Amino acid sequence: MADMRLQKFLAHSGVASRRASEELIREGRVSVNGEIVTGMGVTVGEEDTVSLDGKIISGIEDNEKLYIILHKPVGYVSTARDQFGRPAVTDLVQDVKSRIYPVGRLDYDTSGLLLLTNDGEFTYRLTHPKHEIDKVYRAEVSGIPSQSEIEKFEKGLAIEDYVTSPAKLQLLSAKGGNAAVLVTIHEGKNRQVRKMCEAIGHKVLSLKRISIGPIALGELPEGKWRKLTREEVESLY
Ligand code: URA
Repeated sequence: MADMRLQKFLAHSGVASRRASEELIREGRVSVNGEIVTGMGVTVGEEDTVSLDGKIISGIEDNEKLYIILHKPVGYVSTARDQFGRPAVTDLVQDVKSRIYPVGRLDYDTSGLLLLTNDGEFTYRLTHPKHEIDKVYRAEVSGIPSQSEIEKFEKGLAIEDYVTSPAKLQLLSAKGGNAAVLVTIHEGKNRQVRKMCEAIGHKVLSLKRISIGPIALGELPEGKWRKLTREEVESLY
């Protein structure tokens, strides 16, 4: 590995985007060979040991970037570590050389399409709202949304301290007083789909993400993963 600036090293190791890595450094969370570094000028090479919050980040052995699609089951957290010791999505992705991180989050009780990568810039691109990448969810909700509720949803809703961008709600079917719907959003606020449905009076009973931009979950079985093809990665740019 050639010497490189610390923030670039962090981004290349998949820890965070370059900008977020600078923030981690500024906050005093990064150390090089046991010494906390808060300035931006430091470069690191093969012989250096870099840690985040006291935990060693291994250098990437090669420059291979990994892009993985996982069908997340309910009952897994999408953070790398969980304070309650619950299973993590990274437990499902074995035999991968590099340390990979989820791109954004799915709730513990949400299933479906989750991307994982060691490419911090890719994560930044996909999770920054300015890129407006559509994410589509299939949900079962209590009751049956009316046309006027659907319109409210599509205008954007006030939720806690923000107003959501216009989103889409499409009724698929109704059974036993509940409905199956497709929801399309491009933001990624905490529990946004659940909160938006609740705001129009319909509790989410189950939630599954089925696509991100042009990438669809397809027939990938629950709990399984595969690498994205080069065409799929490029389609997200
Ligand atoms: N919206 C939610 O409410 N939950 C998720 O997991 C994803 C989007």
